[in-house]
Amino acid sequence: MRRLRCFLADLAPGEGPPALAAHRESCLRCQAAGARERALGRALGALRDEVVAAPPGLQMRVLARLGRQDAFDPRRALIARAAARYAAAAGLAGATLAALLAGVLRRHSRALG
Ligand SMILES: [Zn+2]
Repeated sequence: MRRLRCFLADLAPGEGPPALAAHRESCLRCQAAGARERALGRALGALRDEVVAAPPGLQMRVLARLGRQDAFDPRRALIARAAARYAAAAGLAGATLAALLAGVLRRHSRALG
């Protein structure tokens, strides 16, 4: 009978019926279970603001596993963004190389005349 009350007290949230509340106050097993639940709630609450970064490539792997979706492939936007990122990096590298070459040519022309 005691185990049945423990089971019912575990199922009923909050105070519940008075008989279960009285059981919770007197049963060490239910008090320990309540303490564990409160500790778990505090531990989970402490994780509320924690942000865990997804491993690199996870998004693409998940989308690849999903396969083609209806009429629109969700990977298309990611591919376009990756292409834009690579184009921007290539443009930046080209501009840096042009600036370096201009500096070298300027020095060379000063040295000559
Ligand atoms: Zn109990």
